[in-house]
Amino acid sequence: MIEIRGLAKSYGAHQALKDVTLSIRPGEFVVVLGPSGAGKSTLLRCINRLAQPTAGEIVVEGTPFRSSARDLRLLRRNVAMIFQQHNLVKRLSVLKNVLVGRMADLSPVLSCLQLFPEADVKIARHCLEQVAMSHKADSRADALSGGEQQRVGIARALAQQPKFMLADEPVASLDPKTSRIVLSYLKQSCKESNIAVLCNLHQIDYALEFGERIVGLSAGEVVYDGAPAGVSGDV
Ligand code: ADP
Ligand code: ADP
Repeated sequence: MIEIRGLAKSYGAHQALKDVTLSIRPGEFVVVLGPSGAGKSTLLRCINRLAQPTAGEIVVEGTPFRSSARDLRLLRRNVAMIFQQHNLVKRLSVLKNVLVGRMADLSPVLSCLQLFPEADVKIARHCLEQVAMSHKADSRADALSGGEQQRVGIARALAQQPKFMLADEPVASLDPKTSRIVLSYLKQSCKESNIAVLCNLHQIDYALEFGERIVGLSAGEVVYDGAPAGVSGDV
């Protein structure tokens, strides 16, 4: 179980996030739905400490994470993040990009030399299978289409073997057909691996199609938390 307790974030006098409390079960696919400026990015960035929350805590399987260096390392290992811009290393192969997801467990020397243990290569290849990208393992990342790059970004996050996956508008730059393919792979692969997902979206149609549970965010507050069937058009 992943628990977000009383999370808040202020930028000066502006409260971007107000007392957000959520519990997410392993394998649950939760869509955070809200208009631009609602605080969706801030929520995800406070969870993995890309931003420092003003109040609140994250508890993963009963262990609270605070701001010590050790807690941050553990948090980053347990929580993977996917961005709108997948940030792949363009000149590296697809497989090596996925292996980047394994680097936290490697010694700095090995990771500098890009020498990966066979066990890590096996994990990376399995993650590429989960997003149906095995056939492109040896292609350079910049030879792929936008949708394929995002699928590799998902594989890289899966390779980290996280308990929790955060996806910040993962399909915002993709066309509708490609968006649905990418969201399907994200949902299916996280289900297979029993990873809890918080996926930010601003499109209500994708949210209703893919979300098992919808968290509606408006002006930094949770205004809805429940089944897609109960969502009205004004979330
Ligand atoms: P969303 O992801 O839903 O579009 P954000 O989390 O990006 O929303 O932003 C929520 C609010 O916080 C917005 O009003 C935004 O302008 C503000 N905000 C976000 N990041 C910063 C920052 N670094 N400094 C000041 N204000 C910020
Ligand atoms: P998105 O909503 O797509 O996540 P934003 O445009 O809200 O992106 O934010 C992009 C970046 O700009 C983020 O790093 C955010 O922290 C920062 N940002 C957003 N709003 C403000 C603001 N009012 N002042 C300073 N930085 C901001």
